[in-house]
This record gives sequence, C-alpha cells and structure tokens, in this order.
Amino acid sequence: MKLISTFAASSHSIRDLQLFRDADEAEVAPLLASCPVMRVEDGETVSDPQRARLYIVLRGALAVSADTRSGVNDGTISKVLPGESVGEQSVLDEEAGLSHITALEASEVLLVEAELVWKLIDNCNGVARNLLRLLSFRIRAANAQLRRRQKLGEFYRQLSMVDGLTSLYNRAWLNDALPSLVAAAQDTQSPLSLVMIDIDHFKRFNDSHGHQLGDQALRTAAQVLSSALRPSDFAVRYGGEEMMVVLPDTPENVAISVAERLCERMQRAIVFRDMRLPLPHITASFGVASLEVGQDELGLVANADAALYRAKEAGRNRVAVHGGP
Ligand code: GH3
Ligand code: MG
Ligand code: MG
Repeated sequence: MKLISTFAASSHSIRDLQLFRDADEAEVAPLLASCPVMRVEDGETVSDPQRARLYIVLRGALAVSADTRSGVNDGTISKVLPGESVGEQSVLDEEAGLSHITALEASEVLLVEAELVWKLIDNCNGVARNLLRLLSFRIRAANAQLRRRQKLGEFYRQLSMVDGLTSLYNRAWLNDALPSLVAAAQDTQSPLSLVMIDIDHFKRFNDSHGHQLGDQALRTAAQVLSSALRPSDFAVRYGGEEMMVVLPDTPENVAISVAERLCERMQRAIVFRDMRLPLPHITASFGVASLEVGQDELGLVANADAALYRAKEAGRNRVAVHGGP
C-alpha cells in the first residue's frame, strides 16, 4: 500500500461514502481530514492482521474472504465497491484480522483507525445510525446464508439415507433407525415386527432380461412394498435384491398377513410388457420375525433372516415365520 494523500487533500467527497450518508458533514469532515488515502495494486493484501480498522473504498474494488479461523469458511467472497466499507465489525469488537482483504484491481482506500471510528460514533449521531443499519443488514445476510446452508445440509442428509435406485430407505438409515425403534418398543412393551424379503432367482431374471430390466424389476418390487404399507411402516433396501419392511406396533399374526399380502402383490406386479414374451414376473420370499422380550435389533434381524432362508428352502414365493412350522 502506498500513501497518496490525506482525505482532506484528496478529491473525494464525504457524501459519496455510505457510512456518512445523511450525517452532518461539518462534524464528520474535520475528523476524517487527516485520514490517509492509500493506493493498492491489483491482488495486493489490504488488511493488517494486527490492527482493527475501517477500510473505505474510494476507487476500484476490494475482495473480502470470510473468517478462516472458525473453520466454516466456504470460500465465500464478497466484493466491496466505491463508497462501501469493510472492517466495522472488527473495530466494534476489537478483534483484528478476522477476514482477509485484497484489492481486486488498482484501488484507492481510505483508512480510518479504530479510535477515530469511536470518535465518529461518539460525536456524530448520523454515523452511529448508519453503522447500526449496516450491521443489522450484515447479520440478516449472514443468517440467510446460514439457513441456506442448513437446508442444503438437511437435503444431503436425507439424500444419503435413501437408496437412489428404489427410493426406499437404505442400509445407513436402517442402522440409524432400527436400534431406536427396537429400544422404544422394548421400553413401551409394544410389539414390533420385521419382514425380510429376497427376490427369487433374480440372477436368472438379470441373465434373461438384462441388468437394466433387472433394475426396473427392483423398482417395481420397491413400489409393491411402499404402496402396500401404512404410513407408520418403513420399507428399506437392505442390499442388492434384498429388502426389509419394519412394522412398528405390529404383532406377529398381523405381520404374517402383511407379508402374505406383499407376496401376493409381488407375483401380480407388472415389471414391463413385451409383445414377444409372456409377461415376465417376479416373485419373492419373505421371512417374518417379531421382537422378543429383551431382544436387540441384531437378534431380531437374524431371526427374520433365518425365516427367509426357510421360505427359500420350502420352495420360494412364500412366507415363513421365525419359530413357525
Ligand atoms: P434366490 O432365489 O436364491 O434368492 O436366487 P437369486 O438369484 O435371487 O440370488 P443370488 O443372491 O444368487 O443373486 C442375486 C442377484 O441379484 C445377483 C445380482 O446380480 C442381482 N442384483 C443385486 N443387486 C442388483 C441391482 O441393483 N440391479 C440388478 N439388476 N441386479 C442386482
Ligand atoms: Mg439375495
Ligand atoms: Mg434372491
């Protein structure tokens, strides 16, 4: 930075500066008179990390990058144009060097040291008022940005809990939710049932119709599940062609009839139509288990899995119950 003159000796007018708009010029002018006007070159650093001071752009443009110490810097850069200022906050809270300021082009900048800013606030009502307005505007903008970021975070969180192909919940969701669903059921002594589902001979389906129609079949199967369940139930893609239905507040006999309904609808579902082929169908096998006293989620899943295995063994396209015949 190179000193080119004082503010009084420069050609700039107080009325063009945002912070002094509507302030009494006769009060402001003598205080600003001896402030230095500096010339900065394109790309040059303007801020001094050791000092809290106000920078007012007279010509050119500055770039301010957000506080990097808090760890939340997302690369946001704001641009400060002629008449605008930066650094008010560091003057007010006496914390220097929170943001990094550089020149975006060759610029002229008026430096106002912290003590002088306080003098302006004490002596000129208009300046204090402008400063408050400016800060309130900045807080609003910062809050809006925070809200946008929170929304985005929530969006990605949801995205990571849902399977992209079927739109069912994914395994990560299950790992997150099942322990608390089981704990809640144990606490309130409410029933909770699981149905583990595996599509039959799905390798064969892929082999005869291709992987893309295989994907289509998985979507169809997922659709069968979600359209047949109550809003309080959950359908999950457990992995590959395995799915699971979580039925809170549901005793074993009800879970069996739900599974039988799903089994029935699965074999009737239409995956795709091709004039040259008989309608291809998918069937699935179902394993039902209900939460036992003192059982955790691992035990419950293992029981549903064992029941599913028995449904496969018994010939597929059917429902088997843990501990059942
Ligand atoms: P079973 O009746 O004993 O369950 O036989 P299966 O052929 O269904 O069982 P296996 O576990 O041998 O094969 C599962 C097949 O599922 C193999 C795999 O390629 C297919 N698969 C898993 N995930 C996907 C997927 O996302 N898309 C498609 N198209 N196929 C998948
Ligand atoms: Mg399988
Ligand atoms: Mg299978």
